[in-house]
Amino acid sequence: MTAQRFEPAMLRALGQARVAASEGEIPIGAVVLDPSGSVVAEAHNTREASHDPTAHAEVLALRSAAHHRGDWRLDDCTLVVTLEPCPMCAGAAVMARVGTLVFGAWNDEYGAAGSRWDLVRDRRLPHRIEVIPGVLADECGGLVREFLESRRSGGDVDRSEGREEGP
Ligand SMILES: [Zn+2]
Repeated sequence: MTAQRFEPAMLRALGQARVAASEGEIPIGAVVLDPSGSVVAEAHNTREASHDPTAHAEVLALRSAAHHRGDWRLDDCTLVVTLEPCPMCAGAAVMARVGTLVFGAWNDEYGAAGSRWDLVRDRRLPHRIEVIPGVLADECGGLVREFLESRRSGGDVDRSEGREEGP
């Protein structure tokens, strides 16, 4: 399985990430693909709008995919996300029994799929996920960097000044 195969899905996730940015959210987008490669769910980070610390793109996309399929088990599905998932989202992917995880940029601060932690391939857990990192990584990471830089330079009202700014 080549990473290139997932570029169209990643472009779609990037579209979701741009929607997030336009809404003042950290630009992270996710899609869930069924075994045929069709998109069954897509979502973006809505943490600010929903006042929900768990409203990360991956959690919302997994929840929506499970709802549409009428099954919480997504073992034949692929989660495609613009940034390496945090521990919460990596945990959610494991609990959903996701078969494959595809991500764009590495998340040096919160990454839990191979950088800081590797929850999705932890041998102590009964379910492990195939990981395909680095799909359109520059574009995915650039979006987050630009967003955070524009915030820091005062382009937007920054209510979280001095606070941890990670996804
Ligand atoms: Zn997350």
